[in-house]
Amino acid sequence: MYKNILLASDFSPEAERAERRAAEVAQKYDAQLSLIHVVDYYPSMQLEGGLAMLPNIEERLNEKAQEDMDACIARLSMTFKNTHIGHGPPKGVIIDYANEIEADLIVLGSHGRHGLGLLLGSTATGVLHIARCDVLAVRVQE
Ligand code: AMP
Repeated sequence: MYKNILLASDFSPEAERAERRAAEVAQKYDAQLSLIHVVDYYPSMQLEGGLAMLPNIEERLNEKAQEDMDACIARLSMTFKNTHIGHGPPKGVIIDYANEIEADLIVLGSHGRHGLGLLLGSTATGVLHIARCDVLAVRVQE
């Protein structure tokens, strides 16, 4: 069945269910598991005001992303085939990476940091619409 699973996590409490589910599915199918996190920050934001005042914002976001990724890997105690920190609009970066590693399943949460406002979160919706492979959107409990 699935052989090459990609877990996308924003490391929010909501995504933790998706993280655990991805690990369970990988174990069940004896599949390889990869992990992506996208730093949702664009250099152009600096031009728009506030963030330009924060020194080394990009560096600090990258450090935080790496810390969160290390914590996720430790939490799941799984061996990951690939781990990747990307930059840019999350849905596009997740899809490009899934294509690059030829993932046959993307696992993500139905909602994440952006909250429960929509029926399905915007990243989850975007990935579902454009993925070439299956997508498992793990329901976040309300
Ligand atoms: P959202 O649709 O943005 O509420 O997020 C739904 C799910 O998409 C989250 O639970 C994560 O699994 C995934 N996701 C959202 N943002 C990111 C991100 N920046 N990097 C990786 N995965 C993400």
